[in-house]
Amino acid sequence: MNKHIKKVAVIGSGIMGSGIACHFANIGVEVLLLDIVPRELTEKEKASGLTLKDKVVRNRLVNDSLMAALKSKPSPIYHQKFAQRISTGNLEDDIAKVSEVDWIIEVVVERLDVKKMVFDNLEKYRKPGTLITSNTSGIPIKFMSEGRSEDFQKHFCGTHFFNPARYLKLFEIIPGPKTSPEVLEFLNGYGEQFLGKTSVVAKDTPAFIGNRVGIFGIQSLFHMVKEMGLTVEEVDKLTGPVIGRPKSATFRTVDVVGLDTLVHVANGINENCPSDERHEVFQLPNFINTMMENKWLGSKTGQGFYKKI
Ligand code: NAD
Repeated sequence: MNKHIKKVAVIGSGIMGSGIACHFANIGVEVLLLDIVPRELTEKEKASGLTLKDKVVRNRLVNDSLMAALKSKPSPIYHQKFAQRISTGNLEDDIAKVSEVDWIIEVVVERLDVKKMVFDNLEKYRKPGTLITSNTSGIPIKFMSEGRSEDFQKHFCGTHFFNPARYLKLFEIIPGPKTSPEVLEFLNGYGEQFLGKTSVVAKDTPAFIGNRVGIFGIQSLFHMVKEMGLTVEEVDKLTGPVIGRPKSATFRTVDVVGLDTLVHVANGINENCPSDERHEVFQLPNFINTMMENKWLGSKTGQGFYKKI
């Protein structure tokens, strides 16, 4: 394993992937940021007159999400010029480039089937000995690691950045069944010394530590809001600046995280902890299902609990 990290590949350029890419750029590390570029237009894009050729040839999607991240507030980057350390590309065309990096970080949607498919592909191009980690919010690491080569399993674990990646300090490191102690020790030190985080090694339990506690709190609130007839504004008024959380009132946080991600994590806890006595709390109330159907996922779709965030 190369302990001098000069270049990382970040796979997935959504909310977290873009933020993590910026954070590495902030500390002087080169980043290769890859995502899929869909081969079809959405209805909205068709209506806007965009052609598929424009979309694919220009390969703008990864750049678009990076640009959106760079413009977001609080800023993910210390200085705009650091963004030049990030090169972007299409996962399908550029995946072979992961052979040139020292660390591959998977940051795609929170779905085991998608992550497994992505790891199947990465395994073909990753150089033996290269560090490879997942930013999953809660999918057990063993499910992503099992059945892969010894070398992969030895160098694989969870590295869970919190959102926004530049600002939140917690960095959970979650070993899989065969992660080598050398890898864990290295990541622990790297998180503290280079990423400026507080590294915590967590057991491979569903949703690990931060999200097992955090999602329980948010899910409990979803039920309470319904039972007590509270409004979103009332809850945020009481759980925001007045108690010293200027940016992180409850429903605003859900909009920033993305409702789909939160739902995937809650469902994962339900599936993987069937005998947890708090099982009912993790069941989603109907209004959440309705929001999911309407794609009111938060800032990523322009509408969540709030509009045009
Ligand atoms: P997101 O929806 O913003 O981005 C996901 C990205 O995955 C998209 O850019 C999408 O194009 C890409 N993707 C989808 N299918 C793919 C495929 N087949 N191959 C390659 N890329 C594909 O999601 P996010 O919030 O950035 O979350 C990414 C990961 O980080 C998830 O595992 C999530 O649980 C975790 N995470 C999220 C947060 C948060 O607050 N949102 C915090 C910590 C960890």
